[in-house]
Amino acid sequence: MSRPLPLELPILQNWSCHTCGGCCKQHGIYITAEEQKRIEKQGWTAADGIPDGQPLFVSMGGLGTKRWTRLAHQPDGSCVFLDERGLCKIHGKFGEPAKPLACRVYPYAFHPAGDQITVSLRFSCPSVAENLGTPIIEQTDELNRLAKLVVPNAARNAPAPRLTDQQSLDWPDALLVVDALDTLLAQEELGLIDKLQQAVQFAGLLESARLEEIRGQRMEEFLQVLLHAIASEDRNEAAPPPPGRLAATQFRLLAGHYARKDTYSTKISWTARSVMLWAGWKFARGAGMTPAVQEVLKPVPFAALERPLGSLPEQVDEMLTRYLRVKVQGLHFCGAAYYREPMIRGFQSLALVIPVVLWLARWLASSNGRDAVSTADVVQAITIADHHHGYSPALGMWTFRNRVRTLAQMGQIERLVRWYGR
Ligand code: SF4
Repeated sequence: MSRPLPLELPILQNWSCHTCGGCCKQHGIYITAEEQKRIEKQGWTAADGIPDGQPLFVSMGGLGTKRWTRLAHQPDGSCVFLDERGLCKIHGKFGEPAKPLACRVYPYAFHPAGDQITVSLRFSCPSVAENLGTPIIEQTDELNRLAKLVVPNAARNAPAPRLTDQQSLDWPDALLVVDALDTLLAQEELGLIDKLQQAVQFAGLLESARLEEIRGQRMEEFLQVLLHAIASEDRNEAAPPPPGRLAATQFRLLAGHYARKDTYSTKISWTARSVMLWAGWKFARGAGMTPAVQEVLKPVPFAALERPLGSLPEQVDEMLTRYLRVKVQGLHFCGAAYYREPMIRGFQSLALVIPVVLWLARWLASSNGRDAVSTADVVQAITIADHHHGYSPALGMWTFRNRVRTLAQMGQIERLVRWYGR
């Protein structure tokens, strides 16, 4: 039997479950046929607090698409097994291994990376966003146990994500690119916005480079030269100009996807479709009031989402830098972890999450009648955005991915980062 692959853990991140029950309220939990049978055999009744006639499962998909089963929700949107104290009934009655695998693994994400497995985390969990709990590097035993459950042996042979649509890399060179991006994001002397701007420039230069002949030691040297050139550029101290009109429209449409709340309905009604169409039209127009997309994001003037923040509080800078570094180190931005996108496009999509989060944070503050954005607004905004990033089918669709491509080709990602980071 082959030995388990070593884990590459994020050194900056802490996490323990604080039983907020948020994951059991926000996410649709998809289960296998085997898990469905196991839960059926557990014999849930009204005596366990599951009302008679309450379905445990919902069947999704159909009409030519693959069918999936997920756990049903209670009327308030929480999982059918979540109790009034925010605890899992399956866990309470039968122990942690009896829960669906998706619940056991959350908020971790494991990605094969050649002869190792990288570990990332989902910032849709507020405890991850706020860095609460035990350092991840002290959780190796538990993570090894989970990795065995979710990463098949065949994953050792998984190819590295492509660099671009046209250029592929082997794992050692792909990991050099990851290290280079992380090096830029790790610069302690720079604030988040400057570091991210450099990383976006670096990704743009790599995208236009012809690297067929550059491998191994030469790749390492080439990346060092690029890093040096970017780090020695003069910093742009001027007030950032607003994004161009077309870029602003594309950005609002993109950010609007992150603002939505999934309903997990089996069918999308005509009413829901009309609401989505109306919201799309409002985002494209960007004038007047924002559409009502979910309870916490109330109608506010679009102009309020463009107001300056002043300098980012240190905690926000730390949290968003940690977000980017955990996602980059954990390969949670490209390939199998992100709609099979190549590394450069995946990184550009990840970079755009930062202006999206700061746009959502302004929206949350305004929804509560405040001009000033608080750290708590940014925590809530990152949990909303990361709920979708890499997981929502809408973000994997051609239209969404093409928006990222268009913004990158227009050179507007850096401008959006600076504009919403100001
Ligand atoms: S099965 Fe348990 S852990 Fe999973 S979502 Fe439901 S309540 Fe939460």
